[in-house]
This record gives sequence, structure tokens and C-alpha cells, in this order.
Amino acid sequence: MSGAGEDYEELLRAWVGRELVARRPGQDPVNVPMIRHWVEAMEDPNPVYLDEDAAKATGRDGVVAPASMIQAWTMRGYAATVHPSAERSGFDELVALLAEGGYTSVVATDSELEFERELVPGDHVSVEEHVESISAEKQTGLGAGRFVSTVKTYRDASGEVVATQRWRTLRYRPAEKPAPDKPKALRPRPAINPDNAFWFEAAREHRLVVQRCADCKSLRHPPGPCCPQCGSFAWDTVESSGRGHVYTFTVNHHPRHPAFDYPLVVAVIELAEGTRLIANMAGVEPADVAVGMPVVLDWIDPDPDLSLPVFRPAAHEER
Ligand SMILES: [Zn+2]
Repeated sequence: MSGAGEDYEELLRAWVGRELVARRPGQDPVNVPMIRHWVEAMEDPNPVYLDEDAAKATGRDGVVAPASMIQAWTMRGYAATVHPSAERSGFDELVALLAEGGYTSVVATDSELEFERELVPGDHVSVEEHVESISAEKQTGLGAGRFVSTVKTYRDASGEVVATQRWRTLRYRPAEKPAPDKPKALRPRPAINPDNAFWFEAAREHRLVVQRCADCKSLRHPPGPCCPQCGSFAWDTVESSGRGHVYTFTVNHHPRHPAFDYPLVVAVIELAEGTRLIANMAGVEPADVAVGMPVVLDWIDPDPDLSLPVFRPAAHEER
């Protein structure tokens, strides 16, 4: 089915205002143990969430739940995977209809929350979700797509609305991948500023430099205006030997940027001089990279404006 046909438009329009997910109560009422785990994880020191006296001192009747927990009270958690939901049938139907139009990919674009009142232990929250709008097809950087906006309404046990959440996603038809013979995209530009320009300028000359405090002589990277050891603003640089080892690394598969080859090894290299920097690895299969692997510096010139250090496994004689 075409994403632009008149019948298809009609089918999509019919979804506006419809219920996507039927009202569903949270598994547990608002409770202090879940609040405690949340504020500990979020490192939120506000005492009104756990300390009755502090909450009363603010004019409240007692402790309240953080507003940002609203979704947590109605999440089904592991139960959602063990017992797939009858409530989501509307949601699955709409996703299937969008897929028929070719809109098979999704990205969340924004979420707006409005709170009517604070939740307190004992409140039992339910949630339902309706479709608010489905846009006409738009051209976006990701491909042609439609913005789908839904509203989740959170209610207490008496049915009063406690919060609403407008949730917008872009459902899109993934853009065609560029043919392999097309020139590759430029790498994202580094954010060059007066404090780090010297580093990128040296890189263009294939020199790996490390900033050094002119007073206490300690080395630092990434570059910054001020010595974290002694506070001095005076600095010079030393040129690195280019030797070091893999301090840690990750292998990126997704999301893919057209300027890079994947799988892409992103490593933290500890230089012999003691500072660390993030760089890609070259001349090694991702599966062969290991923490502690001795490496040597090499350079790549991805485009005329940019040279970057990469690191290769050190040959035996270089170790
Ligand atoms: Zn210093």
C-alpha cells in the first residue's frame, strides 16, 4: 500500500482520538521503598521524598513521590515480556498500519509532561493512552515520515487526572543507503575552541602533543585552560612518544555514521607519558583488541581539514 494514497490517509485519520492502550492500573501503589531506590539511583538529595519532618516543614502533609517517577508507577516491568499485553492491541494495530505505509522505523522526538498534583504513598495510579495527531508525510533527515503524537493520561484511584504526558515519535521510511562508490561523509567536526585548538593544529602536523603545566609540570588531557593540580594558567606542551596501551575500549555497531567503518573500535589509550586519550584503533580486528594491549601511534587524514591519531597494535620488536 502506498503511504500517500487517499484511502490510506483516511485509515490513518480514523486513528486520531482513538484509544491506543486501555486504562491499566499500576502493579503497586506509590510506596516509599520504590521512592527510596529512585532517589538513590538519581542521587536526588531533596529531603521531601523521604523525610517526613522535612516534607512537613515545606507545608506538605508528608513525603511525596518525585514527579519524574510518574511513568515508573505504571510500568509493567518484567511482566510485560512474560505476559504480552491485551491492552496494547490498539498500539500494535497502529504500528502495523504505519508499517504498511512503509514507516517501519521509529525515533522518539520529544516528551512533554504536565503534573496536576504531587503523588503520595498510597496513591494508586493508572494510565491510558490516546492518539492525539498523526501528521501528513514530512521529509526529514532520516527519511520521509509522519509525526505521531499520543497522550498518556495518569489518574489516581478516584479517576482524577494527576499527570499527562504528550509523547511524540517520528515513524519513518528509512532513507536509501548511499551507494558504496559515493564519497564517504565527512567525520563530525571536533568542537575546537581557544583552549584546545593547539592540539588539533599539532595533529594536522601529525604530532601528538600533551599539555603540560608550566609551573608544576604535570601533564593533562583533554586540554583545558587551568592546571587541575596547582591552578596555574601557564602551560606548554610536550610531544608524546606515541607509545602506550589500551586502557579500555568498546566496539560500536550502531548507530552508524557514514564517515566510519563498522564495527568501530573506540579505545581509551593510556600513553607512556601517563595521560589518556580516546582514539580509534587501526590494523586490528575488533575481536583481537584487548585491555592492556601495547599500541603505537599512527595518523589518519580523513579529509583535508582533519588529521587524527589512531593506534595500532605494537609489533613484537616495538614492545
Ligand atoms: Zn600545575
